[in-house]
Amino acid sequence: MKSNPFISLFHTVLDFFYPPFCFDCGGKVENRAYLCEFCHSLIHREPVPLKEQASNHHLDSIFSCYDFEIPLVRTAIHALKYSGIPGPSCELLARRLPAIEISVYDYVVPVPLHWRRFLKRGYNQAEILAKVLVREGKARELISPLRRKRFTKTQTKKSRWERKGAMREVFGMKKKYPNLVGKTVLIVDDVCTTGSTAKGCAPLLKHAGANRVDLFTLGKA
Ligand SMILES: [Zn+2]
Repeated sequence: MKSNPFISLFHTVLDFFYPPFCFDCGGKVENRAYLCEFCHSLIHREPVPLKEQASNHHLDSIFSCYDFEIPLVRTAIHALKYSGIPGPSCELLARRLPAIEISVYDYVVPVPLHWRRFLKRGYNQAEILAKVLVREGKARELISPLRRKRFTKTQTKKSRWERKGAMREVFGMKKKYPNLVGKTVLIVDDVCTTGSTAKGCAPLLKHAGANRVDLFTLGKA
């Protein structure tokens, strides 16, 4: 790709005032990356969490990129979720995708936030990850057919039993959404704990006609 001289100059100036350092180790990075090649090589030695066959007939399979217990993964996801710093998570996702065998989906659907949480946070972290999947050619289009009807506590603050029961009535379909009949849909979320969030979304998408509904997350807790 031919670089724009103005953008190159801008980056040179930017690098002077804010030298690009690795998000994890503070080492030198290439091409304005968030992680250095050494940190990438370490993290890519970690095995991909096993693909799960979901124990729910609406949700077909669950794919995750990294074990959430890996400190770097945890830090990156917290930065994405609570500090508005999406770069490291997006980079980890994009670099891991070739190791995860998923087909190309018709639609990618980010798990929606309740509007109160969206207003407070200013963005939906699942949507940021979903955009990476479209950019990397894993889904043709990002759509948001779901809405979160009820405001729920953060998943981590609830018991396993509460999480399972609570998700059934939390989501609904929006009034208008693209035709899902016969389509393959990939639900995207930041972390999969029990899969209960996606299991709350999947039946709605299947009832709207989706042929296949899988879940994709960056972290597997
Ligand atoms: Zn590093």
